[in-house]
Amino acid sequence: MLKPLSPDELARMREACKVAAMVLDRTAKAVEVGMTTYDIDMVAKRAMEDLHCESTAHGCFNGECAFPGWICISVNDVVIHGIGDMKTTIKPGDIVSLDVVTKYKGMVGDNTRTVLIEPVPEPVRQLSKITEEALYAGIAAARVGNRVGDISYAIESYIKPYGYGIVREYNGHGVGRTMHEEPPIPNYGKPHKGEKLKAGLTLAIEPMICLGSHRIKHAADTWTVKTADGKPAAHWEHTVLVTDGDPEILTKL
Ligand code: MG
Repeated sequence: MLKPLSPDELARMREACKVAAMVLDRTAKAVEVGMTTYDIDMVAKRAMEDLHCESTAHGCFNGECAFPGWICISVNDVVIHGIGDMKTTIKPGDIVSLDVVTKYKGMVGDNTRTVLIEPVPEPVRQLSKITEEALYAGIAAARVGNRVGDISYAIESYIKPYGYGIVREYNGHGVGRTMHEEPPIPNYGKPHKGEKLKAGLTLAIEPMICLGSHRIKHAADTWTVKTADGKPAAHWEHTVLVTDGDPEILTKL
C-alpha cells in the first residue's frame, strides 16, 4: 500500500494536481472538428511548457517501446493510451478521451475527461455521462473505514444496470510520488475486500467503460488499446485525496 503523503508532499501534490487539471482543461477546450490528434497533443505540450510541468506519459516504457505522445488521446473505439498522430482527424460525432498525467514540483497528478464532439449519438452520450457518474460513485467510496474493494464495487454497481462492458485489464491506482503506485483499483470487485483506505492516500480513480463488450485488443504500436468489437468507450478520471472526512478531488479546478 502506498504510504500516505507527508504534509510537505501533500502541499506539493495539491499544486501538481491543479496543474494537471489546468493542462487537461486547456486541451479539452481546444478540441474541435478538423484538428488531428497530433494537433491536440501539441496543445497539451504547449500548456505543459507554459505551466512548467512535465509529461509523465512521454517516454514511458511498456517493455517494448517508449510512449511518443505528451498525453493519451483516445478516439471512439480506442479505450486508452491512444497516441496523437497526423492521420486521425476529429469529426462530428466523435468522442475523445484526453488522459493527462503531469509532474510538477516532484509530484504526479493524473486526470482524464471524455470530450464530446457534437452531434454525438444519444447512446454514446449516455455512455460518457454514466462513466463520469460512476467515477463520482467511486470517489464517494474513497473514505477512511472503507477498503479498496468498496471503490471498485461502487463503480461496478453504478455501471451494471446499463449493461456496459467494464475493462478488466486496466485499473485505477495510487499516484503521487510516481505515476503508478499501489494499490491497484479495479473498476469491478467485492465490497469490504482489499486494503484499508487511510487518510493521506492519493488515488487515481478511473472507470474505463465500453458501450459493448469489455473485451479489448492492442494495436500494433503496442500502446493503443481498442475495444475488440469496435464500439466506443469512455474514460473519466480524477486524483483523489482520502481524508478523515469527505474525499477531496485534487484535480478539480
Ligand atoms: Mg491513471
